[in-house]
Amino acid sequence: MERVKQNLEKILKELPEGVKLVAVSKRQPDEKLQAAYDVGHRIFGENIVQELVRKHEIFPGDIEWHMIGHLQRNKVKYIVPFISMIHSVDDFELAKEINKRAARAGRVVDCLFEIHTAKEESKFGFKPDALKEELGKNDWKKLFPNIRFRGLMTMATNTDDKSLIRNEFKAVRYLFEELKRTYFSGDDYFDELSMGMSHDYKIAIEEGSTMIRLGTMIFGERLPK
Ligand SMILES: *Cc1c(COP(=O)(O)O)cnc(C)c1O
Repeated sequence: MERVKQNLEKILKELPEGVKLVAVSKRQPDEKLQAAYDVGHRIFGENIVQELVRKHEIFPGDIEWHMIGHLQRNKVKYIVPFISMIHSVDDFELAKEINKRAARAGRVVDCLFEIHTAKEESKFGFKPDALKEELGKNDWKKLFPNIRFRGLMTMATNTDDKSLIRNEFKAVRYLFEELKRTYFSGDDYFDELSMGMSHDYKIAIEEGSTMIRLGTMIFGERLPK
């Protein structure tokens, strides 16, 4: 557990101002999450609803839980009452369900649009043109009074090719700026760019990330699925 504390403290010390750290605790033993909590960390990310709900129940109430994985519509209801941010809104039907459940819970939920960047087919997210088409529809914001769209999230291709990763992050940053100018001008809260994982977060920060999501770098290898 000493290791977790050391890793976390080192990362936080080197983190530029304005960049937040989401500690990705998925498939990590509870003791490791507790160790991070004990040194004062409060932002944790999970990608499986069941695991997220369980941890929310057993860990202290001042943790900010972030959903970073693909979210099925029929599971939205389990996390909406407590979730701090959903990074993985990848279609408008999902957003409608989040809005509906948030209204019932009397909440406004912070969300990010997930952008599909990586070359891998398996990853989720909007293609930039598809998202722009949705946002171009008149009055779309009126559909989502209980969601505050805060920005974009993406995962780069899993590769050693640093210039490919950099170009992917750059493209999402340009998209973010274009959307901000075009559809969110005057919305000061549209200000988050969630990009960067253990192997590519330094590049992500150079390319304008405001939120990095680190798992193995803090906690070590995950337990098998
Ligand atoms: C697992 C996961 C991470 C963390 O990955 P590491 O390589 O362990 O840092 C970040 N983002 C998403 C969406 C993930 O699913």
